[in-house]
Amino acid sequence: MYTDILIIGAGITGTAVARALSRYDASVCVLDRACDIAEGATKANSGIVHAGYDAKPGTLKARYNVRGAELYASLCEALSVPYLQCGALVIALSQTDTDTLRLLEERGKQNGVSGLRIVGRDELLRMEPNLNPEAVAALEVPTSAIVSPYELAFAMADDAAVNGTRFIFNEEVVSIGRCGQNWQVRTADQSFECRAVVNCSGASGAKLHNMISDRHFGMVHRRGQYYLLDRSPSQPFSRTIFQCPTKWGKGVLISPTVHGNLIVGPNAEDIADPLDTETTASGLAEVLSKAVLTWPGLSARTNITNFSGVRAHPETDDFIVGPVAGCPGAFEAIGIESPGLSSAPAIAEDISRQVAVFLDLSRKERVVLPPGREKPFCSMSDEERKAAVARNPLHGRIICRCESVTEAEIRAAIRRPVGARTVDGIKRRTRAGMGRCQGGFCSPRVASILAEELGCSLAEVTKGNGNSRLLSGTVGDFLKAGDSGD
Ligand SMILES: Cc1cc2nc3c(=O)[nH]c(=O)nc-3n(C[C@H](O)[C@H](O)[C@H](O)COP(=O)(O)OP(=O)(O)OC[C@H]3O[C@@H](n4cnc5c(N)ncnc54)[C@H](O)[C@@H]3O)c2cc1C
Repeated sequence: MYTDILIIGAGITGTAVARALSRYDASVCVLDRACDIAEGATKANSGIVHAGYDAKPGTLKARYNVRGAELYASLCEALSVPYLQCGALVIALSQTDTDTLRLLEERGKQNGVSGLRIVGRDELLRMEPNLNPEAVAALEVPTSAIVSPYELAFAMADDAAVNGTRFIFNEEVVSIGRCGQNWQVRTADQSFECRAVVNCSGASGAKLHNMISDRHFGMVHRRGQYYLLDRSPSQPFSRTIFQCPTKWGKGVLISPTVHGNLIVGPNAEDIADPLDTETTASGLAEVLSKAVLTWPGLSARTNITNFSGVRAHPETDDFIVGPVAGCPGAFEAIGIESPGLSSAPAIAEDISRQVAVFLDLSRKERVVLPPGREKPFCSMSDEERKAAVARNPLHGRIICRCESVTEAEIRAAIRRPVGARTVDGIKRRTRAGMGRCQGGFCSPRVASILAEELGCSLAEVTKGNGNSRLLSGTVGDFLKAGDSGD
């Protein structure tokens, strides 16, 4: 198959690049080995839009973080994605930490972050009364924000799709090579030829870079584990609370999420397999032991789930973004560890311009807006709910009781331009299964709706990637197999 531009990876970076490139006159295709958008680091991170005080001045991390954070509010508003500028505090628990706060404040100022200031203990405890009373000071970061990372990736993919971008899933790139002036990208089943290839493959970034270029480099895979605490109308913190960063990263944080939960984590552990996203008793114990230094009242009793994500840490310790040296037509955004979520819109801005210049593309005259996203039923007032049910009676059928998700919302998520195809895809698009019972009640009903909408049998519906089927067959099949001695 031929396409002008082939983007490898449908995480936050690949979808942001796809949306930006969909504004040009060119054919664009996004390829991912997973079954859906945002199946890599983009689905499992802290969801913080960092202000940009942490990255070393002069690095790509600093530049893209600050510019990306600037773009976030308007991007999320345009795409109806939940985003909240709740601010953050980096707390100092010792005199050494206080020195670190001054360093971070100075770095932030050099990076162009506004509003930073150091607050003393009394003011700090007035701002966040549940903090450890032994905290001595904090750096206040008013421009820090929170976002739903995968919802942004879904929205950017939908936007790219209505503007002509094609998304292909379940295809893992196994080789990349030259084909005359073009690039040839192969998966197990298909071959793609393109004039420009953009490597946004997260954990596989180095592997695919090394297929394109002779200048090889390596990457470390660093897992971070989390607790997700139940939603509550009165959470103990209104801001994201960080401890002082170390060479391992930004440390264990406690933060509200845009959906009213509280997230606690991550730790940092180097692992051999980038796909190893299991959680472990020791990793979670480490998270808890560090988090109580921020919040002595923390109890894991309200925990509703644990998860982990894997950072793609490049040995260069900075993002690698731009044309691949000595390989015309090859571009990359790899080594995109934190603050990669915050940086994605800015990385996309640069990469799309570079690709457009290389291919001499002109901008499209007309940009198509993706179908609007209705306000979630759970956030509607009673009046709005009545009107929603009158518009579509399927809003009257609640499928997920914990998060008040209606059948109309689930069907709409499947019918989006890049719609849900799995139970997890529904969960991340609608929040059905995200609540206290974690899908215990609604998963079978979601699976039935998926089967009906996709025109397949219930036994073919998967939870997520690969052969993660919910059912192995019907009772009738099972009994027949027993009769025939199979
Ligand atoms: C624990 C943790 C906490 C973090 N917290 C924050 C935070 O609060 N704020 C912030 O700004 N950043 C944070 N980050 C960083 C952020 O999550 C990442 O920078 C960002 O998600 C990277 O997005 P990506 O699209 O580059 O990679 P990914 O999301 O990993 O996407 C890469 C895609 O490529 C696909 N792929 C891989 N190999 C192949 C192949 N061979 N063929 C086809 N497809 C392939 C994958 O399936 C995947 O979909 C955190 C990261 C982690 C792990």
